[in-house]
Amino acid sequence: MSGATRVLVLNSGSSSVKYQLIDMADEQRLASGVVERIGEPGGVPDHTHALREVALDLKARGSGLDSPDLAAVGHRVVHGGTRFTAPTLITDEVLAGIEELVPLAPLHNPANVTGIKVARELRPDLPQVAVFDTAFHSTLPEAAARYAIDTATADRYGIRRYGFHGTSHAYVSRATAALLGKEPADVNVIVLHLGNGASASAVRGGVCVDTSMGLTPLEGLVMGTRSGDLDPAVVFHLERVGGMGTDEIDTLLNKKSGLLGLCGANDMREIGRRMAEGDKAAQLAFDVYVHRLRRYVGAFSAVLGRVDAITFTAGVGENSAAVREAALSGLHNLGVTMDPVRNAVRGSAARLVSAETSPVAVAVVPTDEELEIARDTYGLAAPADKNLADHSG
Ligand code: ADP
Repeated sequence: MSGATRVLVLNSGSSSVKYQLIDMADEQRLASGVVERIGEPGGVPDHTHALREVALDLKARGSGLDSPDLAAVGHRVVHGGTRFTAPTLITDEVLAGIEELVPLAPLHNPANVTGIKVARELRPDLPQVAVFDTAFHSTLPEAAARYAIDTATADRYGIRRYGFHGTSHAYVSRATAALLGKEPADVNVIVLHLGNGASASAVRGGVCVDTSMGLTPLEGLVMGTRSGDLDPAVVFHLERVGGMGTDEIDTLLNKKSGLLGLCGANDMREIGRRMAEGDKAAQLAFDVYVHRLRRYVGAFSAVLGRVDAITFTAGVGENSAAVREAALSGLHNLGVTMDPVRNAVRGSAARLVSAETSPVAVAVVPTDEELEIARDTYGLAAPADKNLADHSG
């Protein structure tokens, strides 16, 4: 094992495989890419071919899948249910366990499973590790994880709040502590992961105590195409009065709602441009998005009691000064004072955008889920070499 310090991170989605090769000796990225349109016209036919393309690309860059430098493969897996609460070395039994969770994540887990199978076929000798999107939220107290429905029914069908984007929330909450010059154990953070999917989490001393996504990634914040929170009776109403079927409603709420449903665009840049031109639908979409964010900031402030930092991450969170400003303006009673000049500065590094005097720090921290997966993978697969790159932050 000694000498092998590279980790291949695979994120296998239903129609794409994203990959990064990271050398854990210095955490440098050696290669990254994406194979898209799997099973679609103009794309590769299936995941086996997709991974072959990944292998070809890695080979062309001088670090093929057969390279002795490769220490392990880390796989992003969306749903770990209540069984997988930490990164897990993949065995046949673990793989079967991930397959058993398909009913909870019918869109995501099958692609993850396929990616794992193909990677294991290509390198059966290598340790392969599953890193779960739900794991960081497994510490949610029952009061936060339980829905207030009949307990027997909930348990029978595995209905509870699992949360997602956990790898990002874990990485960003720790990086926030580092930015403040503190240990994660000493910091309470609200993390706002605002990408195409969006979620908030409340992290107390490094431990996640609440999160906005639930049984599935549909709950919580307004997202690019997902509605986030709504009265569950909307579903019955659409069925009874609107005559819509379950799958149709599922598609409506997951794919045609959120910003897209409100204004026809799911990209915050386009919404910003249209707002500047006085477009009312775009303005409404922005307002609904921001209103929901403020609600969660208020709710999670109350959940945490003491808040040391509020951190924005992912595409919208890292880039949209307008969203950050609108979400946190006028929250002096919660101890939040933004610095408009700092907030307007664009940058790619972790930074503070709050006023020097603000009791609650407001931070922008670029997320790095691949690095987090690589660290988790390397930590499990190569414990003897772990001291090489044990500078988490
Ligand atoms: P994903 O959830 O797909 O990983 P990202 O975290 O990459 O998404 O976020 C994608 C979203 O980020 C885009 O849909 C867009 O709305 C937003 N975004 C990216 N760049 C900017 C920008 N400069 N200003 C505002 N929003 C941006």
